[in-house]
Amino acid sequence: MNSKPLSGKLGLVFGVANKRSIAWAIAQAWAEAGARLAFTYQGERLKENVEELVGTFGPDTILLPCDVTQDAQLDAVFQKVKDSFGRLDLLLHSVAFAPKEALEGTFVGTTREAFRVAHDVSAYSLVAMAQRAAPLMAQGGSMVSMTYYGSVKVVPHYNVMGVAKASLEASVRYLAYDLGQQKIRVNAISAGPVNTLAARGISGFSAMLKHYEAHAPLKRNVETSELGATGVFLASDGAAAITGQVMYVDCGYEIMGM
Ligand code: NAP
Repeated sequence: MNSKPLSGKLGLVFGVANKRSIAWAIAQAWAEAGARLAFTYQGERLKENVEELVGTFGPDTILLPCDVTQDAQLDAVFQKVKDSFGRLDLLLHSVAFAPKEALEGTFVGTTREAFRVAHDVSAYSLVAMAQRAAPLMAQGGSMVSMTYYGSVKVVPHYNVMGVAKASLEASVRYLAYDLGQQKIRVNAISAGPVNTLAARGISGFSAMLKHYEAHAPLKRNVETSELGATGVFLASDGAAAITGQVMYVDCGYEIMGM
């Protein structure tokens, strides 16, 4: 196998908040594998932190603000990528949000607004990105999104985020179908729990980590470097015939019935 499987590839990464972000682990692995990357961040609050991180890839690394619910901001990001890179090969969607109160109580109490926001940020955003990325992927490409098992099984407190992840996973399949003829592959990585900013918003998250450690076949939690390695595989030619899939990277937890 080529030691730099993504050599010459150009990628765009959404979802780095800090060094614990899954997006950061995958971006590092993509860069290590030879890809050149552009990044986005959401809001001024994160700018300095993300600037420092992406600066490690060189001072000219593209870094742009983008709230994924804002079409104009998405347009600006993809225009800049087009102007600077000329094309795009890889897209990482590692973005999700639901109002905190929706991740604490019961699912039945979900408000219309919490449902709308969770789906807009966590699922529709992939469609919005794919619309803009596909025209730049004239030579084909790979889109990778992050999901979680709460989409198919009930995980207490995951609530509306689980429903949004189900929508995201279905979107991955429909996008894979639409874009397949253009040699664009769309897949999702379903990660076991990782201690990140977003995860800490889920009530009972530390119990989830312990539960996985006790019950997963590998008797441990996933490491972000392992998500990075899967991200490289899905982006590489090794996965050339894989599209529309949800790949579990969870130390085997998903196979357990009890
Ligand atoms: P994270 O570091 O907090 O990343 C989540 C990112 O989404 C942050 O950069 C966040 O920015 C961004 N985001 C939220 N709303 C946004 C918006 N409107 N526009 C643009 N960006 C927005 O947490 P993470 O755990 O790495 O999450 C990355 C992905 O992995 C998510 O899809 C998550 O559901 C998924 N995942 C996580 C786990 C886990 O256990 N951690 C497991 C499976 C799947 P702000 O901080 O500004 O909101």
